Amino acid sequence: MELRKDPITRSWVITGDDVPENVPRPEDFCRFCAVSTSPLQVISTTPGLDGSPWAARSVVHPNPLYRIEGEPARRGDGLYDRMRSVGAHEVLVENPRHDRHLWNASEREIEQFLLLAGQRIQDLKRDQRFKYVSIFKNHGVTAGQEFEHPNSQLTATTFVPRRVLYELRAGRDYFDQKERCVFCDILSQEERQNQRVLETRGDYVALCPYAPRVPYETWLLPRPHEAAFERSAVARPGVMADLAVLLRRTLQRIRTVTEDFHLVLHTSPNSLHRSESLGYWKTIDEDYHWHIEIMPVLASKNKSYTFKEVYYSPVTSETAVERLKQARIEP
Ligand SMILES: [Zn+2]
Ligand SMILES: [Zn+2]
Ligand SMILES: [Zn+2]
Repeated sequence: MELRKDPITRSWVITGDDVPENVPRPEDFCRFCAVSTSPLQVISTTPGLDGSPWAARSVVHPNPLYRIEGEPARRGDGLYDRMRSVGAHEVLVENPRHDRHLWNASEREIEQFLLLAGQRIQDLKRDQRFKYVSIFKNHGVTAGQEFEHPNSQLTATTFVPRRVLYELRAGRDYFDQKERCVFCDILSQEERQNQRVLETRGDYVALCPYAPRVPYETWLLPRPHEAAFERSAVARPGVMADLAVLLRRTLQRIRTVTEDFHLVLHTSPNSLHRSESLGYWKTIDEDYHWHIEIMPVLASKNKSYTFKEVYYSPVTSETAVERLKQARIEP
């Protein structure tokens, strides 16, 4: 596996002929369950609740895309750029139980998972090779789910992924003009207009973005400005409780529309080791604002070519928010 940079869009891609084909293998046991005896390389755990050995834990991905050893060895190839796929690739096991998902686990269980996510990001940002730590979840066959057990994944990379890079550049440009955070401005306008806000819980807001990429796209954001998720998550015990409940309720609502979804956490890049060449660092704590994006996968809407070039959502966010609000969910 190696990383190559597209000289036009400046996006890095991971490529190689040694990628294991993503064929679902039948497994008669689950290696991520608490009772499993199959060896896993455990990196970190959070203390168990109600007598379980652990609440959430991270393990090395059994078939990692990125490997932790060595230096990226970035080098030119004519006008091109390439580097080794150095990084970290972890599975974040959300719950010791096979049937406890982010939409039916307890508030404290989800809170422990969010805390683990924060701790892993903080830990990996200490490694100056890594410019970004991503956390994402693919749920359902059409969303590319890899393991049956409730899990998310983490990658730490020597580059900032494309979508985050767009957001960082846009956040910086908005701040240059207005000296305000674009996410804070979106939040205050959305709360004022109240047409696309799905629900608020304590300091957290769930909303359907004004220009959705897919039907029922939903974001979760903290109302107080904060660039780094991990700083919020580990600030004080209990700080993630409201987010845990809002996440659970939002996923319950989305699951009334479709079971398959992508979820991604967008936090600030690793600013402990600033790269002057990247230029978005100076105001990052003021111009970027962490958030969670949930992209439901509606199989029938996934076909067209234009989907990849111009996002097309046959459901407006105003309609989406009304339908999701009316969804019957648990209290
Ligand atoms: Zn399991
Ligand atoms: Zn902000
Ligand atoms: Zn984002």
